[in-house]
Amino acid sequence: MTTQQDHSIAARLAQVRQRIDQAAIQAGREPGSVDLLPVSKTFGPDIIREAVAAGIHRLGENKAQEIRSKFEPLADCNINWVMIGNLQSNKAKDIATMASEIQSLDRLSLAVALDRRLQQEGRSIDALVQIKTSTEPSKYGLPPDELPAFLRRVAQEMPTLRIQGLMTLAINVPNQDAIRACFRSLRELRDRTQDLGIANVNLDRLSMGMSGDFEIAIQEGSTEVRIGTAIFGGRPYGDDYYWPEKATS
Ligand SMILES: *Cc1c(COP(=O)(O)O)cnc(C)c1O
Repeated sequence: MTTQQDHSIAARLAQVRQRIDQAAIQAGREPGSVDLLPVSKTFGPDIIREAVAAGIHRLGENKAQEIRSKFEPLADCNINWVMIGNLQSNKAKDIATMASEIQSLDRLSLAVALDRRLQQEGRSIDALVQIKTSTEPSKYGLPPDELPAFLRRVAQEMPTLRIQGLMTLAINVPNQDAIRACFRSLRELRDRTQDLGIANVNLDRLSMGMSGDFEIAIQEGSTEVRIGTAIFGGRPYGDDYYWPEKATS
């Protein structure tokens, strides 16, 4: 007999999935139409193995060196590593060799560096274009008006990057309307850009929403939420340590 809450990774995953489905239903969408990308940044192999045991085989990380440090120790788990953080072009090789996907493709110089490394590896990866949807000065992402030209270049010249959609981080403020405006502008940008019918560009996926704001993102059309804290618990350091672009000014 126990009155304690179950804090296992499996239990938290189930709770988060339930909240995602509930939010979808409330938004008039199909439950199951929103995917979950668990974000394991700062958590080590033991905890990640718990997630794998609970059925997870796709994990988000925001640093290339962290994927590199977890890749070998977890090689037996067949994890698809998804890069979701700002990536310096000189670390493109790590992503080209170890990641199955990048959601933080935010500039042409990075696309060129990744494509070159991917060609060397004889690999291709899925890619979402990260868009700057807020006016926060420190936030990474491609400016929305540059998206069509960016997509044409990548689609024509860099077939190792299979564009599947867009990703964004909402503004880091308590104001829910401001957060919603970021998510809405990503969906509207996607819809406008789809209408251009750029060849070889798929924009079906919208990766938006995290532990603190995913219900709003789902109301605004998210197809994939990136959840760390609500599954793995709080991180030992603040987000400004692991995630400099979110440092509050
Ligand atoms: C850490 C991180 C997340 C998950 O954040 P939580 O608030 O812990 O759910 C999502 N997206 C990106 C880009 C991240 O770096």
